[in-house]
Amino acid sequence: MKFNPVIEHLKTYEPGKPIELVVREFGIDPADIVKLASNENPWGCSPRARAAVAADAHLMYRYPDDTMTALKTALADRFGVEERELIVGAGSDQIIEFACHAKLYGGAKVLQSEITFAMYQIYAAQCGAVVVKAPGVAHDLDAMYELYREHDPEIIFICAPNNPTGDCLDRVDIENFIEKIDTDTLVVVDGAYQEYAAYKDRNKAIDPAVLIAKYPHVLYLGTFSKAYGLGGMRVGYGIAQKEIIRSLYKLRPPFNVTTLSLIAAEASLKDEDFVDMTLRSCFEEMARFERFAKERQIETIDSYTNFITYRLDGVTDSTALADRLLKRGIIVRDLKGYGLNAIRITIGRPEENDRFFKTTAKLLDNGTK
Ligand SMILES: *Cc1c(COP(=O)(O)O)cnc(C)c1O
Repeated sequence: MKFNPVIEHLKTYEPGKPIELVVREFGIDPADIVKLASNENPWGCSPRARAAVAADAHLMYRYPDDTMTALKTALADRFGVEERELIVGAGSDQIIEFACHAKLYGGAKVLQSEITFAMYQIYAAQCGAVVVKAPGVAHDLDAMYELYREHDPEIIFICAPNNPTGDCLDRVDIENFIEKIDTDTLVVVDGAYQEYAAYKDRNKAIDPAVLIAKYPHVLYLGTFSKAYGLGGMRVGYGIAQKEIIRSLYKLRPPFNVTTLSLIAAEASLKDEDFVDMTLRSCFEEMARFERFAKERQIETIDSYTNFITYRLDGVTDSTALADRLLKRGIIVRDLKGYGLNAIRITIGRPEENDRFFKTTAKLLDNGTK
């Protein structure tokens, strides 16, 4: 069968290995598997979200409230924006998809950093767009500006903090960059890990209301999948001036977020204690990952997220280490596919991290080359 040539050349996104696959492949008891591969919240989600979903479970026969008023009101309150400056998607992934379809066409250009969230280029490629990448492990805004001048892209993606490296640009640097970009170019600021960055360093904190008030060409993205622990519910949001939101809305399929997902997200937003606990634990445990790395001469990237990247040059091969960990029931993300001899480890609960340290120490001592 012949398919759209644009589709023929696409790569399928490779998500972190699910626990089910490791159970099947290696016969490991699911209770013994430590999944530190998908940047999920190791503490689960807010008990309030679980209670709200349980209480409303009987509603699953009904189509969702397609106005999403309850969640949009809660988000509008939280961020100090208007409801017409908000769009809710099945994960912020879906908002990235809308943004690409809203702006791109065959041969259009997209600009991003070389090592960043893989979905940008996947959605861009679906639209037949050409992805231009600024080299470097971290976002190099000077290089990006040069490439912007040369290519005149329709969309520029900035991931702050960046996945899969964990580093984060300062807010002022992002703003100074956006200031120089013509308002015909959409600048997507992906804040999937902003809760973590804002907790660690106020200079990294982005206030989406301030950002969109200053810049009519910015689309800010947030998600319930990380700090709120709702990855399985698929809820994310976009914040922008109403002209952008209006265009994105034209691409939204009806009922794109399920009833129970909307309910879970709204309840989560009201439980600040859960998010505070999540953030505190994340950075306490991150310090242990930094110490472990130092003891073993592993270079790390300063992380503003719920994961840490171990660069393994001179230590071992990242694929070999990730594979050996996997056989012992510990799932991490190998970054070889991004051109880095590194692994990305989601910060888990203390006992999960203990397992990682103990097993990794043993593997490194025995030599994984
Ligand atoms: C996880 C993630 C998202 C989106 O996650 P959803 O589950 O689709 O909301 C977006 N951007 C980055 C950088 C992420 O890491």
